[in-house]
Amino acid sequence: MNELELLQQADGLARDYTAGIEGRAAYPNAQAIEDLGQLNEPLTQKGLPALTTLELMNSVAGNATVASNGPRYFGFVLGASLPVAAAADRLALAWDQCASSSDSAPGVHALEKQAASWVLDILKLPAESAVAFGTSATACGLSCIAAARAELLARKGWDFVEDGWIGAPEIRVVVSDVTHVTIKKALQILGFGWRNVRLAETDDNGRIIPEKLPELDDQTILILQAGEVNTGEFDRFQPLIDQGQAAGAWVHVDGAFGLWARASGQLAHLTEGVDGADSWTTDGHKWLNTPYDSAMAICRDPNALARVMNSDAVYSSASADSQKNLTLEFSRKARGVSIWAALRTLGREGVAAMVERHHAQAQFVAGQLRKIGFNVLNRVVLNQVLVRGVDDDATKRILERVQSSGRVWFGGTVWQGHPAFRISFSSFRTEERHVEELVEILATIGPNG
Ligand SMILES: *Cc1c(COP(=O)(O)O)cnc(C)c1O
Repeated sequence: MNELELLQQADGLARDYTAGIEGRAAYPNAQAIEDLGQLNEPLTQKGLPALTTLELMNSVAGNATVASNGPRYFGFVLGASLPVAAAADRLALAWDQCASSSDSAPGVHALEKQAASWVLDILKLPAESAVAFGTSATACGLSCIAAARAELLARKGWDFVEDGWIGAPEIRVVVSDVTHVTIKKALQILGFGWRNVRLAETDDNGRIIPEKLPELDDQTILILQAGEVNTGEFDRFQPLIDQGQAAGAWVHVDGAFGLWARASGQLAHLTEGVDGADSWTTDGHKWLNTPYDSAMAICRDPNALARVMNSDAVYSSASADSQKNLTLEFSRKARGVSIWAALRTLGREGVAAMVERHHAQAQFVAGQLRKIGFNVLNRVVLNQVLVRGVDDDATKRILERVQSSGRVWFGGTVWQGHPAFRISFSSFRTEERHVEELVEILATIGPNG
């Protein structure tokens, strides 16, 4: 089989998968997972025919996919893949560009530059900011925190790039006590040590209480949150960022999904004042519904990010706006291309409509669940509904029955010491009938499980 036939085969399978996504189980059944054992084969000396490789992938792994690209998956905030974003990614895959800089890949560099400008525009962030298209909010958050540390040290006359970390003035970090685990991960990689990080106390909604914010100074990085994973809540940016600025601190905002609320006239009030921060992270692969891996590190001072992320070499130099000088990657896929395609196709109104529809779906489900005796724990300001049954055991039973149903899927969590489950709305494919099906399933199970 030649290359074009093989690609056609893959495209055909991909098309069939997409065509069947609506009817697919939200989560693979036990048999499909057991069958994954068939992938356990010895590595051969001479290799095997390409077509059989594709067929095995499709019949075994493809049978055990989680239908997060479908309409009835309500776990985490995964988002589906918009048709145009998925199609653009497919085309870019054929191009196989090494999108380090404009020299190495002028075409996709230009697409990413345009995407960067639209991202700043739609999120109403400072137009001079750098936008780095990284693999994930994890990697992008890490990059921003690294930039923050180097910049705060530079203001103290310490050159982090030359002199490093050892013997440097102390840089402190303040995060919300419900900060995302990947911020913890970034801090542990960067060497801050979780024990040294100061926690800001949050209220019942998971928002930092401004009056209780630990003291800040010009050697502090303050990390705020747009969209808490359980409640979908936002820190109160205006007073917190004012405090940060007055102290000379660096303020970073983790807005992996929540920052997209800013694209909606109806929800933007949740993010009021967020543009006063120094850096932000957000994902395309969650709420914007682009494929993986697509995320953004946004830094008001482009040089602060470019200095610490620089990877110019004698054989590979480039300008400060080259993506290899803004992201963790050197050789890299042009991750901004699917974002460009999504924004161009949706426009401002399309993004706003998607975000607002998910918000309305969350509010509808919360209202229905309250009526039938479930305990809805949050105010549903965004796309998250945090729920319990009548007690802890009932909550666990409900979760298990839902997850094993295959019809819909959402995940469990622990909120204020007790089990709960989180229902998230983030797939562009989710329509009214899917939301009604979700409510019907939960009504049948009932709050007693
Ligand atoms: C998902 C998430 C992250 C991590 O994003 P990845 O793209 O999965 O690395 C960080 N913060 C919040 C609030 C998130 O929801």
